[in-house]
Amino acid sequence: MRVSVLGTGSRGNAMLVDAGGTRILVDAGFGVRTIAQRLAQLGCAPESISALVLTHEHVDHAQGAIPACARWGWPLFATSATLAQLPTPIVPVRAITHGQSWSVGDVIGTSYAVPHDASDCSAFVFEQQGSGERLGIALDLGHVPESLPSAFERLDMLVVEANHDLEQLMAGPYPWMLKKRIGSSTGHLSNAQAATFIAACAHKGLRAIVLAHLSETNNTPEQAVHTVGRALAARGRVAAALVSRVVAASQRVPLGPVSGHGAVVVRAPQLELSL
Ligand SMILES: [Zn+2]
Ligand SMILES: [Zn+2]
Repeated sequence: MRVSVLGTGSRGNAMLVDAGGTRILVDAGFGVRTIAQRLAQLGCAPESISALVLTHEHVDHAQGAIPACARWGWPLFATSATLAQLPTPIVPVRAITHGQSWSVGDVIGTSYAVPHDASDCSAFVFEQQGSGERLGIALDLGHVPESLPSAFERLDMLVVEANHDLEQLMAGPYPWMLKKRIGSSTGHLSNAQAATFIAACAHKGLRAIVLAHLSETNNTPEQAVHTVGRALAARGRVAAALVSRVVAASQRVPLGPVSGHGAVVVRAPQLELSL
């Protein structure tokens, strides 16, 4: 199983899960042209994707959902509350329920409710049938609910939001109301909160940890990776060995595929320019 990030942050999110020939896009927070371009950079034809799964309805996760499903014939999976917030879809939809598994090809998905100021935000665990490999994705959550670490047990790969450094957010240029919203228990996860959660998920089989939805104003990849690394290092020998497996994904440049076997390929635009 592999995961690639088309882009992640407040200006758009989309991730590609690729497992044994089954491909699932998680979120479509870009226009169809950008989705097509970023998939091409990752070597993926949109027609080869089996389904689109949405975490929630915010524009940075869902703005391209209906047009992309219409263009490429993807069925759309989301909770009924999330589906109700979208423009009436004419694509096939599948309403999912938290805690109940569903399958797309070789992949079994399960959603878990996470606290965020949307109608019903989901975190996901994807498990590949046969290999049993497990990927957890948690984006846009104000805090980690008590039940999430046990749902995210024994993961092979983890993608988790590390939105902001709390001090930087509070000292930064955002209006007070926005700072309050982002830092609230239904806003976004700070580096420190992400670090605590990741440390709780740490086990020796966790091969890759991808930090996502980093703020370009209130965070840096270095800070996020450093904060998570420090929490892992403080948690004992097994967790400390995971420090080198932490990578931060970005808004502008696709990342992946991340397989957890040391195969992280970052396709930077400057590489294209130098060709
Ligand atoms: Zn959101
Ligand atoms: Zn978001």
